[in-house]
Amino acid sequence: MIYRTMIKKTLPRFLDTVNKNYRLIVPEQKGKETYTFKPYSGFSNVATEFLRTIIPPKQFFLPPKEDLFHVSGTSDIEVGAEEEPFSIIFGLHSCDLHGIDILDKAFSYGGKDTFYWRRREKTGFIGLSCLPDKYCLCKSMHTDFIVDIYDLFLYTLDEVYMVSVRTALGDDMLRLCPELFREPTGKEIAEYKDRIEERESMFTRIMDITNLADLLTLEYKSDVWEQYSHRCLFCGSCVMVCPTCQCFDVYDSTDLLTDITVRWRRWDACMRKDYALVTGGHNFRGARPERFRFRYLHKEIGFAEMHGKATCTGCGRCSETCPAGIDMVEVVRSIRE
Ligand code: SF4
Ligand code: SF4
Repeated sequence: MIYRTMIKKTLPRFLDTVNKNYRLIVPEQKGKETYTFKPYSGFSNVATEFLRTIIPPKQFFLPPKEDLFHVSGTSDIEVGAEEEPFSIIFGLHSCDLHGIDILDKAFSYGGKDTFYWRRREKTGFIGLSCLPDKYCLCKSMHTDFIVDIYDLFLYTLDEVYMVSVRTALGDDMLRLCPELFREPTGKEIAEYKDRIEERESMFTRIMDITNLADLLTLEYKSDVWEQYSHRCLFCGSCVMVCPTCQCFDVYDSTDLLTDITVRWRRWDACMRKDYALVTGGHNFRGARPERFRFRYLHKEIGFAEMHGKATCTGCGRCSETCPAGIDMVEVVRSIRE
């Protein structure tokens, strides 16, 4: 890994150049306080001071709905894979990069998911530092800093970005306009250290995750699940906006006139009533408290048992989005009490 600095006002030139060589995806402001990832359409539309997009970057590797393959009456199988250009996503914060790392693990378990990896392998990342707001939980989840997954990471200082170059792709991007990058000065390194310390002190939202997996297991029958399940609308929004929730359902649709069947998948949510419904009518999580509890158990225990880490990155999307005002910190505190 090497470090360089880039003067902040040259970022438009850098992104313009990256966009000429790759398909560049950037964060844009959508509403008053909402942001979304979009193809680059000029630097004036790029948001550099934002915290979270509504829909996380998982949309680029696992689209909300996608065709997997088509089968015709003559049994020809056509994999519905469109050829996509190599993409660079700019503006990913540490929590979302951790989220992609978790998805990579999930979509490699028991064999690689072709449809996820065909996009993921053709995507590079330019990370961007951020300052926490009242929803950010990344410090508690140990995802407030990252040293892998990205190709370039830009730490915002007063006049410059401290640029961490991690991969050959990151180096290739620097070489597109080498005149913009130089060795960091001692003053810039000192400022970088101060900024890290300052940021650490800005977190106001802390979730105690000490022995959380044990506590959730011990409190499997707690009344807390019942209480929150009365408040929860089971709308599934928390799951849809979560950068690491990756469940989907698979469907077959047949057109009787053309004799073509399409197999497709779309995002699904464990909060939905029919998620665990199986043929014959049995529902493994038919009761509301069971569905509410499952999400917490899977996030904090299920995935960790397989891959060694919990799947919450502390991005804060679920708490910000929930129409019932349900906050993960509050739920965990109730379990601890
Ligand atoms: S967003 Fe809130 S109300 Fe909707 S399913 Fe999640 S916890 Fe329940
Ligand atoms: S559970 Fe909530 S805070 Fe954690 S990663 Fe998902 S959306 Fe973000």
